[in-house]
Amino acid sequence: MSQTAIDWARVRADFPLLERQVHGKPLVYLDSANTGQKPAAVIEAVDDFYRRHNANVSRAVHALGTEATEAYEAARAKLAAFLKVHRDELVLCSGTTFAINLVAYSWALPRLKAGDAILLTRMEHHANIVPWQLVAERTGARIKVAEITPAGELDLDALYRAMTPEVTLLGLTHVSNVLGTVNPVREICREARRRGIVTLVDGSQAVPHRPVDIPSLGCDFYVLTGHKMCGPTGTGALWARREHLAAMPPFLGGGEMIKEVRFEATVFNDPPHKFEAGTPNIAGHIGLGAAVDYLTAIGMDRIDAREQELLAHATEALGAVEGLRIIGSAREKAAVISFLVEGAHAHDLATLLDLEGVAVRSGHHCAHPLMAFYGVPATCRASLAFYNTHEEVEALVAAIGKVRRLLL
Ligand code: PLP
Repeated sequence: MSQTAIDWARVRADFPLLERQVHGKPLVYLDSANTGQKPAAVIEAVDDFYRRHNANVSRAVHALGTEATEAYEAARAKLAAFLKVHRDELVLCSGTTFAINLVAYSWALPRLKAGDAILLTRMEHHANIVPWQLVAERTGARIKVAEITPAGELDLDALYRAMTPEVTLLGLTHVSNVLGTVNPVREICREARRRGIVTLVDGSQAVPHRPVDIPSLGCDFYVLTGHKMCGPTGTGALWARREHLAAMPPFLGGGEMIKEVRFEATVFNDPPHKFEAGTPNIAGHIGLGAAVDYLTAIGMDRIDAREQELLAHATEALGAVEGLRIIGSAREKAAVISFLVEGAHAHDLATLLDLEGVAVRSGHHCAHPLMAFYGVPATCRASLAFYNTHEEVEALVAAIGKVRRLLL
């Protein structure tokens, strides 16, 4: 890690929205696992594109068209360098949900057959469950589930036992959006590969918070979403091994993804463009490129360390609140804390916290099977990012105390 100290107050000042008030109170934004706030550099990159360069990509030879194409491809190159992958293996798309559906329909649908199985973990987001169910229904494959321990860690022995010969694909989150659990992805992918199982890793909650070197993980597919990593909504990427991208048929057809179209037959473009039909989210991905620059300038190792400090503080402070139960106590966690307060429904608690200016998410967090495991319909979730402060952790605890006194 670089030794240069970061002035976190100055970093926070890069985020204009964090200066606002809600309900007459200073905003305490603790919902970054839902979507991250945007630094001025990202907002300005999008604004600059529309003010000065707006044109479609890969079509026009005029100056603006060239500028737009260069800026869009530069964003792809930045994201590829950030993830240590080759730009030709990085398909830009609207986010994790799209990326997983792309793999489900383009890779899995033509391959799976009755008797095959797709292995998922108990802690997957619905985005890494439902596309597989849809494909399973159409192919006759079935879904198998790898269970977790009460602490919210994957039961690795059970997971490896579940890797039986009929398992074709393993879908696995890198970091749980509910529990914060960081899964030992490298080890799991190695075990899967030994058994000939293809792996898809959902990096939505990992890439924004820690350095991610995709090739070192040994997976086949890695997906991410831009809006959780300081980028605009409707941005993200699928990384896939070159051989998969070459073998997969296009997911959507249209402009951009072709070399030549005749009514008799069409010659598709090379990957990644083969999977990018239609006009993409040009401004959004240029904004995502700016987000990558921004995160890189701070350093992902320093972001990780900062968030671990905030997590330790929040875990200790919340743990001391009477009647509060934290769900998810994995040994390795990201800065996500799900909790319940005795006598208070999660939605009521979140609504009352909002009146104190504290934004936390309540609900099932798009993880019904995980809620079922813990026997609860919903939790409150505080998720921290590097732009949060220790004072905000204290504000959360104070607000919970106040709300608790109101409710009891
Ligand atoms: N996977 C995980 C672990 C998530 O946390 C989320 C978003 O909450 C998603 C997938 C879906 O991301 P998106 O809605 O950006 O496609």
